[in-house]
Amino acid sequence: MSPHRIFRIFAFPKMNELLDYINKKQHDESRQGEALHIELNESDLKNNKHFYIESYGCQMNFSDSEIVASILSKQGFSLTTNIFDADLVLLNTCSIREKAEQTVRQRLRSINEIKDQKPGMLVGVLGCMAERLKSKFLEEEKLVDIVVGPDAYRSLPELLEDAEGGQKGVNVLLSREETYADISPVRLDKNGITAFISIMRGCDNMCSFCVVPFTRGRERSRNPESIVAEARDLFAKGYREVTLLGQNVDSYKWKGEENHTNKEAEVLMNFAELLEAVAKVNPLLRVRFSTSHPKDITNDVLHTIAKYDNICNYIHLPVQSGSSACLERMNRTYDRDWYMDRVNAIRRIIPDCGISSDIIAGFCGETDEEHQDTLSMMDFAQYDYSYMFFYSERPGTLAARKYKDDVPEEVKRQRLSEIVAKQYDLSLQNNLKDIGKTFTVLIEKASKKSEEELSGRNSQNKVCIFPKENFKPGQYVNVLVESANKATLKGKVVGLVHDYN
Ligand code: SAM
Ligand code: SF4
Repeated sequence: MSPHRIFRIFAFPKMNELLDYINKKQHDESRQGEALHIELNESDLKNNKHFYIESYGCQMNFSDSEIVASILSKQGFSLTTNIFDADLVLLNTCSIREKAEQTVRQRLRSINEIKDQKPGMLVGVLGCMAERLKSKFLEEEKLVDIVVGPDAYRSLPELLEDAEGGQKGVNVLLSREETYADISPVRLDKNGITAFISIMRGCDNMCSFCVVPFTRGRERSRNPESIVAEARDLFAKGYREVTLLGQNVDSYKWKGEENHTNKEAEVLMNFAELLEAVAKVNPLLRVRFSTSHPKDITNDVLHTIAKYDNICNYIHLPVQSGSSACLERMNRTYDRDWYMDRVNAIRRIIPDCGISSDIIAGFCGETDEEHQDTLSMMDFAQYDYSYMFFYSERPGTLAARKYKDDVPEEVKRQRLSEIVAKQYDLSLQNNLKDIGKTFTVLIEKASKKSEEELSGRNSQNKVCIFPKENFKPGQYVNVLVESANKATLKGKVVGLVHDYN
């Protein structure tokens, strides 16, 4: 064991707590399994049936649940957040790691007990797990009535009809065109201030560890007019921040309705141009985006961010590993030098930009030296925070076919705890540097800990907490930071920038 590692273990004795804390904080685990809370129009409530939906995994799934809610509301379903009132229970699932799938299976077992008391209740599995397991799901989980993949949500009404007639319904067809562009999502009514806009679906990269290209299909970009219209509509409804979502937003390319799948066709709009178009909706609408792939993020995108005050200075730029050899096995198509060049470009063009990352510990064949490269990359990039995982082999992926999952479990955990400890240090040090600075913050909601405090984020995506006084969600205020910990900045309002209400 290296002296470096011994130092880390003693410096952070409560490693498990730390790991738990950072994972909870940064994956927003509190949202996993969250039930959708929305308000539907009275006129939509035609068939007197209720649906209940829980979402797991990435933001894309949460965003998809809003599309599903829209499709069901058109069928006259109304939403309930009480599972016991539901005629239809849906789980929108994630396959990214084995643990995510286990969580859903466990949840299905508890739903089984509810179904025993409500025999007419239908249960559906949506999303990536549905796509990965297809009809096998129906054999493995007897209580499931319908299985619907991410590109097949439009067929939900027919599948439900089949299921009501006693037939099990499966549709896991992947599409090369579906973007649900014409479906107006029913918003997850959390704060009425921030919303996601899905700008593309699927992924054409073949990172060797990743199941997403198999569960979400080929990459396709959504019509920019529908994206801008959605942003406008949100702004008119009082929303003040949109996050443009895609697995790899920098490879967004719109070629026109007819040339959607034509590889040779001219690109009519790229991501930098789309970002600009959304920023122009209104200078008072903040724009964020996720996720950026290091191989695709261009200086054009960085200059666009720098040019518009309302495009947030924050980039999620997952590195996965700091070792060129490991990145090659991961098939990430960039190496350590390339990644460092992108970080340097960000620092040069947007000097006060927040950067976050995704990191995998213990990928196939990872040596201790490669792991040290990841730690040194974290020091180099000075991440404000990271989503950190240990490698979980997924059936059917390139890595599962080509490499042995040969890093022992305890080594994976040890390396992950070192990565988490490093991130803890970086987050704390970066946040401490903000004491004495003033940031413009969009107020989102009451703080979790006290009704007397409000919470919002600065441009760099850092959570800021401050006394409520007479301020309210939707306002932009200047906050002077007075103290900080690893997760939040605390301060006081020193001026109202704009009352957008
Ligand atoms: N498209 C995004 C990108 O390339 O950065 C990431 C999408 S994926 C839903 C989110 C993160 O999950 C990945 O960046 C990776 O760190 C992690 N991940 C994916 N597959 C994994 C696996 N088999 N084991 C552990 N972590 C995994
Ligand atoms: Fe998975 Fe890589 Fe695509 Fe991200 S870019 S979704 S990690 S295959």
